[in-house]
Amino acid sequence: MITLGFYGAAGEVTGSCYVVSTPRATVMVDMGMHQGEREADEHNRRMPPVVFSRLDAVVLTHAHLDHCGRLPLLTKGGFRGPIFCTSATADVTAIILDDSAEIQREDCERFNRRLRRGDEPCEEPLYDHGDVKAALRLLTRVDYSRAVPVAEGITARFVDSGHILGAASVQLEVREGSRRSSIVFSGDVGVSGSPILRDPTTPLPADVVILESTYGDRDHKPLDQTRDELLQILKDAQARGGRVLIPAFAVGRTQDLVYHIGEFLREGKLRDVRVFVDSPMATSVSDLYERHKEVYDERARQLLLEHMAPLSFPGLSYTRTVDESKRLNDLKGSFIIISASGMCTGGRIMHHLARDLPRPETHVVIAGYQGRGTLGRRLVDGAKSVRIFREDVPVRATVHTLGGFSAHAGQSGLIQWATPFQATRPRIHLTHGEDGPRHALRARLASTLGLTAFMPVYGEVVEW
Ligand SMILES: [Zn+2]
Repeated sequence: MITLGFYGAAGEVTGSCYVVSTPRATVMVDMGMHQGEREADEHNRRMPPVVFSRLDAVVLTHAHLDHCGRLPLLTKGGFRGPIFCTSATADVTAIILDDSAEIQREDCERFNRRLRRGDEPCEEPLYDHGDVKAALRLLTRVDYSRAVPVAEGITARFVDSGHILGAASVQLEVREGSRRSSIVFSGDVGVSGSPILRDPTTPLPADVVILESTYGDRDHKPLDQTRDELLQILKDAQARGGRVLIPAFAVGRTQDLVYHIGEFLREGKLRDVRVFVDSPMATSVSDLYERHKEVYDERARQLLLEHMAPLSFPGLSYTRTVDESKRLNDLKGSFIIISASGMCTGGRIMHHLARDLPRPETHVVIAGYQGRGTLGRRLVDGAKSVRIFREDVPVRATVHTLGGFSAHAGQSGLIQWATPFQATRPRIHLTHGEDGPRHALRARLASTLGLTAFMPVYGEVVEW
């Protein structure tokens, strides 16, 4: 008997965690952090019903925190087996987990400082830098497309999912006696035509499919249209001598933006721009894009052949130190700052916003999802004044919202990804989406492809 358990991302978009068991082996796919919801901390401390020391292996689809964020808890709990992932994912995971441990340390310190005034118990971080180190030592790098044995009777094959650097869909091939079963985990499915990365591909064959449904209910604006909007904003800002501030996630979005601006220059649509990537984490991740050319799509490879790097052009600088960042304050004229955090909840972008939001010549470009309650969301909603560093800052800048830069496929993209399953009709489970999008995608899978999909809840186990 083969079983598949759902221990996260079941009716929500975070906390991905699945467990595949056979009489001979137990393999976990992703061990992600719950984020955003009120019960996140409680959910992060709720463990799947597996004795970690007896788990044979972990397979990691990609390095986003909601997929890799709880790996250090496995090592903390006695797991010593291999964590299989692509080489690029291993490198990005190191950056993400170190950052996560640091944020937890700072948050706990702040929280406990407040608590000590009363006499309440102190909060413990989920894990620390030492736990991260232990988890990173277990990362085992595998190539795309090659089937590798991960546990007794189970092989894994990683294929492009086009989502972020190193991201993959994973096909687990399970052999039990004379039975063979192919379980396909979509991971997060990206958008076809996105910069640098190859397009998502669907692993075949499949008997069981675990498909993400983040945007199962809608399509994004077309990428071309969004690119044109960005170009127009940059041209206007240049003509009027204003600064352009772009809050962006350090992994993926920043590099996409740099790539698009580079293409505007290479295509002769824009001239003499100065761009500063002002985020140490984004800078480190951009270095990884340089190192992992094996993930490049054809256009990115073509640029290399022409001796151009996809993430570099005259006028682009990466700042590392705080001093370098501060020096941007004194710079005159029009230039672009891309900085984290993506939702304006912290990081260096806050300093730039505090200084430049009151200036009418400033443009702020919001290029990603803004969660409820974040400063980014207030800017999108047209706030006339915002609070930054305990001060009221008037918003006289022009705020633009661009809808087409997504790292996730929209509904049509997910349907396209699932189309090859029409022939063999595997059992499909929709995860990594709230119930609205899951229902919508289930209906579309039925009406367009004639496929039946299930919507597992937390803790559900299916067997076959
Ligand atoms: Zn992701």
